[in-house]
Order: sequence, then C-alpha cells, then structure tokens
Amino acid sequence: MTRQEFKISYSRVNAYLFCPYKYKLVYLDNFHVPVNSDITFGHIIHKTLEQFHGGRDWSRDVLFEFYDKSWKNDGFKDPQQIFEYYRRGNQILENYYASFCETKSEVLYVEKSFDANIGKYKFVGIIDRIDKHTDGTYEIMDYKTHAQIWKQERVDKDLQLTFYAYACKNVLGFNPDKISVYFLSDNKKICTKRTQDDINNAINTAMDIAEKIGAENFDPDLSKCSVCDFRLKCKHFHEEKAAQKTGA
Ligand code: SF4
Repeated sequence: MTRQEFKISYSRVNAYLFCPYKYKLVYLDNFHVPVNSDITFGHIIHKTLEQFHGGRDWSRDVLFEFYDKSWKNDGFKDPQQIFEYYRRGNQILENYYASFCETKSEVLYVEKSFDANIGKYKFVGIIDRIDKHTDGTYEIMDYKTHAQIWKQERVDKDLQLTFYAYACKNVLGFNPDKISVYFLSDNKKICTKRTQDDINNAINTAMDIAEKIGAENFDPDLSKCSVCDFRLKCKHFHEEKAAQKTGA
C-alpha cells in the first residue's frame, strides 16, 4: 500500500495509542474481538436512527418500524438477553423520539462521512449527527448506547470529538459551536467545545501516528495487557508471562 492509499481514522489512532502492537494485530493481522451483545445493540440503534432521520416521515411508527427492520440476534447469549436488550432499545427510542419532537433544530446530516487531507495522509471518519439550530449555530452529536455516562472531563478531552470538530471546520465548512455526546440510555447530552489549539494538537497526534505506522513501529505497551482483549492472541503477552514464570 502506498502512503497515498493509507487512511488514518480515529479508531486506528485510538488502537495505536492503546498499544502499537494491538494496532498491528487488528489492522495488519486482521484479528477481531468476537461480536457481542453491546456491539450488535450499538449497530442496531445507530442504523435505526440513520434510517429514521434519512427519510421524510418522522413519525413514531416509522421509527419503530426501522428498529424492527434493523434488529439482529448476532452476539446475544440467549433469548432472555435478546428480550432485555430489545426492551431497552424500545425505551431508548421512546425517550429519543420525545426529545426529537421538542427540538426545533434542523437535522442537517446523519452518519456523515468525511475524508480530509492531513499532510500527506487521508483522514476519514463518520459523524453520527449534525444539527443546525434556529439561531444559526451548529451542533455535532456523537451517540453512545452504553449505560455508563462519561464525566465532563472525559468529554472535554475526547480525541474523537476533536477530530469531528476538525472535519466540520475543514471539510464541511462550518464551525461547530457545540459538540455533544448523546448518551441514549439516559437520553442525556454532555456538551463541550474545541479550540483551534485542541484541533492542531489532535491532528499532529494523528500525523505522528501515521508516520510511526508507516515506519512499522509496533512496539508493545505491556502496561496495557491486563485490560487488553487480545491477550490470548499476542506473542508479547505470552513471552512476558513465560519470562515472569522463569523469573527472567
Ligand atoms: S496483550 Fe499487551 S502487548 Fe499484546 S496487544 Fe494487548 S496490550 Fe499490546
């Protein structure tokens, strides 16, 4: 692959920052975490909302029709778990719909993909939703379907949101006045902003990581092994374990 063909994304940056060797396992050796209930549920809700906002009939019935059409049983443990998640999804969408009916903003984009040039690299991503408010301001929204709500500090520092702010300014051509993480399980948004310095730092991080990937620098970060899903597939983890056993 030439450098021009190589595309960096938030997921790639995030994997590399966690552990460079994890990046190699996922993106070069094609190892993946098996699909589980949370992954499937996240896809179902994202797809439901994409279809709902992408259409012209924004009625409650249509929203729930898309929910049923988007449903998949992949990764759930048993019928009881399917039932529990399905019910949770129903509640999420009821609350979401009630909030949507109250909003006066225009949903400008859903699942908006972008493709930006950063230095000699392409940076790609997808933004869940962008609204234009009646006062002319813009809001980026990132949906989360997990139950845990982040603290404000985490939202303020989240790298993915900074990349979205960059894409809005440099690809879509407008300034995001507000960036929100929308925790759908609680129907609660936590909002933040980004400065130009935040954006410059994030882009420099992405370019630096793209350089390291290009140079095939995949040194393991053994401090992360205890919370890594790839332990069983990782030679460095097994080598470290063997060394600890022999006291080397
Ligand atoms: S097990 Fe450790 S070294 Fe291996 S990929 Fe995970 S974090 Fe990196």
